[in-house]
Amino acid sequence: MFVAATGLAPIAAFHFCRDTQLATQIITDGSTDRARAVPRVVLPDNPRLFEERADRFAHLASGHPMGVYLGLMARICRGQQEALRRRPALLLPEASLGHSRSFGMPPLSAQGHARAPLWRDDLGDIVAAARDEAEAGVREALQTLSSLDATSVEAIADRVLAGTTLDDDAALVPFVGAALQVYFARQAAALTAEDVSHCDVATICPVCGTRPVASIIRVGGAQANLRYLVCALCQTEWNMARVKCSSCETDKGVHYLSLAGHGDDKAVDALAKAEACDECKTYLKIFNQDKDPYADACADDLATLALDVLVDEQGFGRSGPNLLFHPGSG
Ligand SMILES: [Zn+2]
Ligand SMILES: [Zn+2]
Repeated sequence: MFVAATGLAPIAAFHFCRDTQLATQIITDGSTDRARAVPRVVLPDNPRLFEERADRFAHLASGHPMGVYLGLMARICRGQQEALRRRPALLLPEASLGHSRSFGMPPLSAQGHARAPLWRDDLGDIVAAARDEAEAGVREALQTLSSLDATSVEAIADRVLAGTTLDDDAALVPFVGAALQVYFARQAAALTAEDVSHCDVATICPVCGTRPVASIIRVGGAQANLRYLVCALCQTEWNMARVKCSSCETDKGVHYLSLAGHGDDKAVDALAKAEACDECKTYLKIFNQDKDPYADACADDLATLALDVLVDEQGFGRSGPNLLFHPGSG
């Protein structure tokens, strides 16, 4: 169950709205002139990426029942921004790019890439940022993290990247996951469009092979109204048609579920929806920036864990991770 680690109880005051409107607003990624002009892959070269996410977390924390938790995530993102600023990307071995060109493999494969110890310096910055104003439980987790040797920290990182984190890792996952995001985003941003053009498996990140954390429907510019999947690890975005399941690519049995207050007729227009697939029984959230241009795949995902609870209860399993969160085993 995705939300087990938060101890969140299902929120009975919410109910589902099945949204069919979204599926009627079809803009494909290959059948119109407009869509052909947009990039299939958008590399994470925004130098303020984590600062903007920190601002979003801080905004979402205000008045939220999980405000303390979201406030901690904001501090973690400020640490990510500091780490990103401090260190340049490392030169990627030509062999990785050659392998990608020859076999269509992601050039920075999350599990195959030999990550440099540098990522643990990023972790140090994030721990330092999170320590400010930390409550007792967080201070204890940071103490535990600081006491681990490099081998143990690397083992947690391996589990984060493989999606096999243990319940014992839960309190440390947000920090380790955040550091890995910085390291992989920095490396991804140093790639070129040609470097990332060889892996065309639509359901995984073309740069690192990780599943998406969520979808964003963009506003403004050439990407307006198009759906991009956002990599849970390196923050690369890639385009996918809006009516397809982002896990099995079927265009049948995809429907949208959202949280809605009783009597709220505007529920179908919600910023956050779960795109659920009857074929593969999975779901992933989709955020429409037309409803809020500051929506962020990672931050808005963690601010809407109540939606995960309810979709989970409907029998759907989440198809992509949030690396700032351990999903729990029970
Ligand atoms: Zn990626
Ligand atoms: Zn599916």
